[in-house]
Amino acid sequence: MKKTYAGGCHCGRVRFRVTGDLADVLDCNCSVCTKKGILHLIVPPEEFAILKGEDALTTYQFNTHTATHRFCSSCGIHPFYVPRSDPDKIDINVRCLDGIDIATLTPKAFDGKNWEAANAAYHAE
Ligand SMILES: [Zn+2]
Repeated sequence: MKKTYAGGCHCGRVRFRVTGDLADVLDCNCSVCTKKGILHLIVPPEEFAILKGEDALTTYQFNTHTATHRFCSSCGIHPFYVPRSDPDKIDINVRCLDGIDIATLTPKAFDGKNWEAANAAYHAE
């Protein structure tokens, strides 16, 4: 069920709002997601709004430079970014949503180590 959530980075400089369904959460095993421990919720841009802190965000890109990883320059937390799988969408780090009990989520595995095959399977669903 779709709901609207508020979220942000750790220090509070970056705040956002997102509407999405936590049944769609993905857990990716690629190099960067493994290190960050991100849980993904991918939404269309109209379901997402930065409330404050756009100027606090720093960008990190690697490999194909399609994904635009954004993180707070003050606290280093990565609340959302533009994913390589859906460059026209926004990928929210569910761990940054307010009041979420992570233990109740049942994320689907995304095999980011084998990114091309995982992405094809994901878009075929
Ligand atoms: Zn911060």
